[in-house]
Amino acid sequence: MSPLRPVDEVVEELLGQVVVSKQTESRSLDDALNCCAASDIHSSVNVPPDDNSAMDGYALAFSDAMLDHAYPVSDRIPAGYVGRKLEPGTVARIFTGASIPEGADTVVMQENTKLVDQQVELTQLPNKGENVRRRGQDIEQGSIILTRGDKLTAKTLGLVASVGVPSVEVKKPLKVAIMSTGDELVEPGKPVGPGQIYNSNRYTLSAMIRTLGFEVVDLGIVEDTRQATLEVLERAAGKADVIMTSGGVSVGEEDHVKDAVETLGRVDLWKMAIKPGKPLAYGNVAGKPFFGLPGNPVSTFVTFHVVARPYLMAMQGFSRIQPETTTAVSDFEFTGGTRREYLRVRLHNRDGATIAERFSNQGSGIMTSVVWADALAIADVGQTISPGDALTVLPLTGL
Ligand code: AMP
Ligand code: MG
Repeated sequence: MSPLRPVDEVVEELLGQVVVSKQTESRSLDDALNCCAASDIHSSVNVPPDDNSAMDGYALAFSDAMLDHAYPVSDRIPAGYVGRKLEPGTVARIFTGASIPEGADTVVMQENTKLVDQQVELTQLPNKGENVRRRGQDIEQGSIILTRGDKLTAKTLGLVASVGVPSVEVKKPLKVAIMSTGDELVEPGKPVGPGQIYNSNRYTLSAMIRTLGFEVVDLGIVEDTRQATLEVLERAAGKADVIMTSGGVSVGEEDHVKDAVETLGRVDLWKMAIKPGKPLAYGNVAGKPFFGLPGNPVSTFVTFHVVARPYLMAMQGFSRIQPETTTAVSDFEFTGGTRREYLRVRLHNRDGATIAERFSNQGSGIMTSVVWADALAIADVGQTISPGDALTVLPLTGL
C-alpha cells in the first residue's frame, strides 16, 4: 500500500496546478461584495480632502489662544460649508467635519469653552493643531487603496467609496458545479424511505462556495450508476469553471466517480493523511478542474475547507488563499494517529488565554460537532497533546 501523503504536500502540489482565471468584469460597489479585485485602485483624492474639525467647538489661531479672554464669534461653519478667512482675534463656531477656515489651525472643543454675552471664553488652553484632522491623513492622493487580488469586503468597499470610486474591476466569480452522489440521498422537504438519508452536503458545499464569493451551479443528486455520473459530469463541464462532487469517490463497486472522470478526462485518487477525509479525487473533466470530495459530511466540510478552498481562492486570483490560523491552549489529552486530524474544538477565554475544548464525538458523520465547534484544531501525525499545550487552530468564523 502506498503511504498516505501529508496534507500540506498535497495542497502545495494542487496549488501548483492552478490556472488563474483571467475573465474580469466591472461591478458596482453594491454588487462586488466578496469579489476579487482585478486591478489596483489608486486614489485620485486626499481623504479628508481638507483639514477639518474632529469636534464641535471653536476654530482659532493657536497664536491667539489665551485664558480669561472673551472672543467674538465671527463665523459659523457647519459640515459641508466653507467658512470665510478667520478675522484675527476672533473664533469661528465650527462643527465636526467642517473645513478649518484659513487663518485658523486649532479647534477648541465646545466642552472646554463657555459662552458669556455671545462671546467665547476658553476654560482650558489647547495644544497647537488640536482637534484638526489633517488633509490626506487617511489616504494620500495617488496612494494605492486596493491591490489586485484583494477581497472586496465590508471594510474595503467602504474605503473604495471614500475616494469616490463607484465601481470596481473584479475577477468574474468562478462558477462551481456541485453534485451529490448517492442512491440513499433525498432532498429536504421530501419523505425519506427506509435506508434513505437527507442530502446535507449539497447545502454545506453550496453555502461555503457562496460565502467565498463564487457562484454555485447545482446539479442535484446523482444516481450511483456509471451512466448517470458520466452524464452529469459532462453537463457540469459545459456550465462551470470547476466541478465538485461529494461521495462515491472510494473504491467500492457503488463508487462511480473515479471511473466516470477517467472516461471524460483524467483523475488521480489522493490518499491523504487527513482525518476526517482520506480519499480525495482531483483531476479534470473536459479540461475543467475536478474535485471529488468524500461523502461523509464532516469529511466533505474539512476537505473543502483545507484542500479545495485554497485551490479555488488561488484560481480566482485572490492573494490570500489559505484559511486563517491562530493558536489556542489545549484542555484535553490526545494522541495523533497515522493521519493529521482536524479536531472540532470550541474556544473559550480563560484568564486571558484562549482554551480549546474538544467535542466528544469526532466521527466523520457527526455534523453536530462542526456546528458546536468554533475552530478545527490540528493534531499532527503521531503528535501527543496534553492539557496546556499550544495548538494551531483554524477558526470557522462565518461558516
Ligand atoms: P460515500 O463516499 O459515497 O461512500 O459516502 C460516505 C458516507 O457519506 C455514506 O454514509 C453516505 O451516506 C454519506 N453521504 C454521502 N453523500 C452525502 C450527502 N450528500 N449528504 C449526507 N451524507 C452523505
Ligand atoms: Mg455513496
